[in-house]
Amino acid sequence: MTTTHHPMIIGGEEIEADSRLEITDPSTGEVVATTPSGTARHIDLAVESARKSFDGGDWSRATPAQRADVMSAIADKVGERLDELVELELMANGATIRQATGFHIGYVAPHVEFFADLARRFEFERPAARSTFPVLGQSSIRREPIGVVGAIAPWNFPLLLGLWKMAPALAVGNSVVIKPDEKTPLSTLEFARIALECGLPPGVLNVVTGVGTDAGAALAAHPGVGKIGFTGSTAVGKEVMRLAADNVKAVTLELGGKSPAIVLDDADLETTVDGVLYGCMLYSGQICESMTRILVPETRHDEFVERLVARAGTIQLGETRDWETDLGPVISARQQARILDYIASGKDEGAQCVLGGGVPEGDRYQDGYWVEPTIFTGVSNDMKIAREEIFGPVMSVISYGSEREALEIANDTTYGLASSVWSTDNGRALEVAEKIQAGSVWINDAHQINANVPFGGYKQSGLGRELGANALDPYVEEKSIHLDLSGRLDARPYDVLLSHADD
Ligand code: NAD
Repeated sequence: MTTTHHPMIIGGEEIEADSRLEITDPSTGEVVATTPSGTARHIDLAVESARKSFDGGDWSRATPAQRADVMSAIADKVGERLDELVELELMANGATIRQATGFHIGYVAPHVEFFADLARRFEFERPAARSTFPVLGQSSIRREPIGVVGAIAPWNFPLLLGLWKMAPALAVGNSVVIKPDEKTPLSTLEFARIALECGLPPGVLNVVTGVGTDAGAALAAHPGVGKIGFTGSTAVGKEVMRLAADNVKAVTLELGGKSPAIVLDDADLETTVDGVLYGCMLYSGQICESMTRILVPETRHDEFVERLVARAGTIQLGETRDWETDLGPVISARQQARILDYIASGKDEGAQCVLGGGVPEGDRYQDGYWVEPTIFTGVSNDMKIAREEIFGPVMSVISYGSEREALEIANDTTYGLASSVWSTDNGRALEVAEKIQAGSVWINDAHQINANVPFGGYKQSGLGRELGANALDPYVEEKSIHLDLSGRLDARPYDVLLSHADD
C-alpha cells in the first residue's frame, strides 16, 4: 500500500519535524499516510508566526468585509474540492462515505459561510449602556481580536470541529494555531492550504500536527496564546483548563456526554425506534451528543425493545466507501478494546445484551477495528455502561415508572451535553424539555446541530458555547474608552482622593 506524506503548515510554509506520525485506516488497520510529529518547538514557531502576522495587520486590521470575502472564497473552494476532502477524511477516521459527504465535510462550506456572514454584521464598536449616574464625557466600547488563538480538535469530526474554533477566531481578525488530533489531521491540513490559496495571509492559520501530551499541552500552556478553543474528552478538557490557568487564558471547552433519550408513553414507536437508533448508532456512537441512555416507560418496554432489536438488526456494516454501508469501524485498536471492556462490564453487572456484543463475524472485520451495534436492556442508571461515556455503538435501555422518575434518571449524570424527548404531544414534550439539564434538547429528533443556535454543555460537558448568533464573542476582548468632555477636574468626584475645600 502506498502512503502519502502531509507536512505541517506554519507561516504559510510546509514544515517537517524530526520524526513522523503514522495515520491508519481504521477499517483495515493499514498505515495510509504520515505527518510530521510536531513538538513544543513547532508550537513555539507557529505561535511566533501567528503573532507576526497579527502584528503585521494584513488580516487583523483588514475590514470585516475584506475578511468575510476571503472566508466566502474559502467556502466556495471547499465546495469545489468536496470529493478530495471527503477522501482525506475517509482515509483516517472510519466514517462512511454517506456520512463524510453529508456531514463531516458537507457541513464545512455552509459553516464557513455562516461565520463569514456573522463577521459582516459583527459590531466592532458598541454604545455604552444607559447610565444611572451623571457621566461627564463619552464612553464607547470597542471589540478587538484577542491576538493568537489556539485550537485543539478531536478525531471524530476533525475539520468541522476545528472549524468551529478557527472560523470565528479568523472572522474577527485573530491569527490561529490549530493542533488537530494526531489520528486525523489530513482534512485540516488541506483546509489550511485552501485558505492560503484563497488569500488568507501566511501565518494567519498554522497547523501543527503532533500528539496531545506534547504539542497539544504546549499550545494550551503557551504564554503567547490568548485563548484556547478545545473539543475532546472531559479528562483532557480539565487538563487543558489547568494548563491555560497559568497565564489566565480564556477557554471554551466542548467535552463528553452521556445523553438521555426520554421516550414518553404516547410516543409513536415506529419513528421513535428509527430516531433513537440514529441518535445512538450514527458513526458507531462516536459522537459527543450520541443518545446512549434510552429511557422507556415500563408499560411499553417490551413492545419498544422488540421493534428496536428488529430494526437494529438491519444496520449494515461494511466497506466505508460503499454508499449502502450504514456503519464503519471504530477509530482505533485501543478504542475497540475499551468498548469491548465496557460491553463485558455491562454483562458482569447484570444487564442483558440483546443484540451484538462483540466483533462482527467474517474475514473483513478481523483486520481493522470493528464492533457490532450492541443493545443492552435491564440497565440501571448506576451501572458503569450508563454512567461513563463509551464512545462506541452501545445502547443502554433503562425502563422507568413515572415521568418524574424518567427526568430524575435523565439528569442523574455528571454530563449535560444533549438529550431528546419522543412524544406525539408537543406541549407535553416541551414541558419535559424544560426540566432536562442539557445544552440541547431535541424533540422527536437527534443530532440537530445547526449553526444558528448555540451548542455546548451543562455540568462536565463543557464551558461556554460554540455556534449561534454570539459565536464570535468568545474571540474578542472588549475595551471601554472614556473621553472626558467637561474639561474640569473638579467635575469628577476627586474629593474621594483630593480635597477641593480651599477652591
Ligand atoms: P481527547 O480528549 O483524547 O483528544 C482531543 C484533543 O486533545 C486531541 O487533539 C488530542 O491530541 C489533544 N490532547 C490530548 N491530550 C492532551 C493534553 N494533555 N493537552 C492538550 N491537548 C491534548 O478526545 P478524542 O478521543 O479525540 O475525542 C473524543 C472525545 O471528544 C469524547 O469524549 C467526545 O465526547 C468529545 N467530543 C466532544 C464534542 C463536543 O462538542 N462536546 C464533540 C466531539 C467530541
